[in-house]
Amino acid sequence: MTEKQNLLRNLPAVDRLLHEEGIDNLLPRLPRRIVLEAVQETIASYRDAITGMTDTENNTEAMDLSLGKLAEEAAALAEKMAGMNLKSVINATGIIIHTNLGRAPLPEAAVEALNDIASRYNNLEFSLDKGKRGSRQEHIEDLICQLSGAEAAIAVNNNAAAVFLALNTIAAGREVVVSRGQLVEIGGSFRIPEIMATSGAALREVGTTNKTYLRDYEEAVNENTAAFLKVHTSNYHMVGFTAEVGTAELASAAHKRGLLVLEDLGSGVFIDLEKYNLPPEPRVQDSIANGADLVTFSADKMLGGPQAGIIVGRKELVSAIKTNQLARTLRVDKFSVAALEATLRLYLDEDRAVKEIPVWQMLTAKPETLKKRADKLAEALGNIFEPARVKVVKSISKVGGGALPMAELPTYLVSLELSGMGLTPEGVVEKLRFTDPPVILRIYRDNLLFDPRTIFEYQEETLVKVVGEVCQV
Ligand SMILES: *Cc1c(COP(=O)(O)O)cnc(C)c1O
Repeated sequence: MTEKQNLLRNLPAVDRLLHEEGIDNLLPRLPRRIVLEAVQETIASYRDAITGMTDTENNTEAMDLSLGKLAEEAAALAEKMAGMNLKSVINATGIIIHTNLGRAPLPEAAVEALNDIASRYNNLEFSLDKGKRGSRQEHIEDLICQLSGAEAAIAVNNNAAAVFLALNTIAAGREVVVSRGQLVEIGGSFRIPEIMATSGAALREVGTTNKTYLRDYEEAVNENTAAFLKVHTSNYHMVGFTAEVGTAELASAAHKRGLLVLEDLGSGVFIDLEKYNLPPEPRVQDSIANGADLVTFSADKMLGGPQAGIIVGRKELVSAIKTNQLARTLRVDKFSVAALEATLRLYLDEDRAVKEIPVWQMLTAKPETLKKRADKLAEALGNIFEPARVKVVKSISKVGGGALPMAELPTYLVSLELSGMGLTPEGVVEKLRFTDPPVILRIYRDNLLFDPRTIFEYQEETLVKVVGEVCQV
């Protein structure tokens, strides 16, 4: 008999491993089907490893096939399989609105609202004032109108839905004029030309990639034109020889011809960013004041709230949107309404919004504060690694989420040098994806980089602990 056959014969049967201590006592804490699957997978992976060995490989003796060893592996796998797939992570990348990492972390007030609403009945569509059926939009509409100066508002599933629904309502079967410089793609799947086609509006491209003038829009108007669409090119920036038409100018030209102006702002903001030394970003209230008839934006980008898309604008247009049959398919759920109302309420007092909304805390974090936090983190890492490996370096953080692509927020990174430790940065980064909680970070050459801007202070201790464990220091 070959060594391989011998090894295969020595692999325990599923039943035998299931009754092994360390597996047996996972029940009844973990579902039986998960424990069974983990045991089967562990045995199968050993079987594959043995079968795949070449005869020249001399590692057959080295393979530990003891019941204890297999039980340990199967138990670890079962624990992993029984854990949540969706979980919180530590974002050490410094990218504030990271779409892959769930965009905006919610302010405490929104979390409290969710807690109250999620597990109990609530007045989602019941008017307590009138004692009869109400609308889920009533909880947020007045707030959005106050903050934006618009006559009416509706929240839907996300901003892609907002753009789609607005176009479908005002321009299905008609033409919408858009600048070639604004036919953008956001996040890989949202493309203005495609969304327009799906909404039933016909795209009429005007101008060139870098320059579009008012006359380009005007010359494109015919009896089938419904609107001018202005898209904020939120995730890229064009420099050099460029021209685009402002909302006010576009609105006045449109209104003279009985046309509408729809503006997709992408990342909606109510706060003047320049007050905080950040690059300017068009505010929702400016678009409304400048005459846009409908404005759409996301609630989970720079607004810092839950996933939702908001449409604000003229009352009769928003009413038409509300009664569009598609509005039902794109409606916001009660969790988003709860978190959105709580987040919007913070904006009634701008100082409070900036202090309590995590996205704004991070956007406005002062370099000297970040330096102090980086120093503290570096000291903690220096206590477990050789101190010479840990440095604090000046760098930049990014806003992310297709917002403020040019903004470079000065920050201080903690850099941990791995060379000579027998570890590769890629290997450590991979291991850090499986810690509890996982840590997502950047690397530069042989260094792990941690940006305190997006790390919550209460996560620092855990971060240091898991990094130490992964690097086995
Ligand atoms: C992000 C963005 C969208 C899509 O918004 P979602 O809320 O992700 O659906 C649409 N338009 C612009 C300009 C954006 O920046």
